[in-house]
Amino acid sequence: MTDSIDGTALPSWQDLKFGAKVRAALWLETQVRIGGVFTKAELRQAFPDVAQIDRRVRELRDHNWQIDTHREDLALKQQEQKYVSRGAAIWLPGQAAASKQKTTLTSTQRAKVWSDDSFLCRTCGIGVGEKYPDGTSGTSQLAVARRGVLMADGSTEEQLVTVCGRCVASNTSEADLAGVLAEVALLSPLEKHALASWIDAGQRTRGALERVWGVLQTLPAASRNTVQDALQQD
Ligand SMILES: [Zn+2]
Repeated sequence: MTDSIDGTALPSWQDLKFGAKVRAALWLETQVRIGGVFTKAELRQAFPDVAQIDRRVRELRDHNWQIDTHREDLALKQQEQKYVSRGAAIWLPGQAAASKQKTTLTSTQRAKVWSDDSFLCRTCGIGVGEKYPDGTSGTSQLAVARRGVLMADGSTEEQLVTVCGRCVASNTSEADLAGVLAEVALLSPLEKHALASWIDAGQRTRGALERVWGVLQTLPAASRNTVQDALQQD
């Protein structure tokens, strides 16, 4: 059986043309699989030829791979680790260098990013532990990615964002803060007020305008015209 991601076949984890870090990534993806638990003994058994395979697995975190130990996941025993979500496809040319993180986040920093993002993937919108609409890949796991944000002064800044395990590998999209600010500047005071209250609520809430529009629909045409006249007198 050939393993694949999104229809592209994966190389073998035993292919010695790859370095140990890439082989460890392929081993996790095809042998342990997302959600799977493995022990250090199993890891060393799979890579008897690699002296520091533990370290190579840890380095995968620098490429957005999430591998939890008993420190992050209290359900794990001390010698166990869990493959939680896939990071960059570092077996592809250029992916390892492109995805290298500047620093590794602590679990506290990760938790803050998730909380600030209401535990929603900011690419596809899925919440933590939800089933994907197409029924594949089990339930969602959250990860943290760095997203390039186009700033108002034309520069680009990397900011941390919550993504799910599926979207993390394709986190190449740039966010357009400059564009959003330019559109916001064109809104009326009423629209700005509504937008601010949606941001506060974390969702698009029904304000006074939507409520009155709903009630307005129940009015007979003569009464709707009366409302229209009243508006035009302002
Ligand atoms: Zn997602």
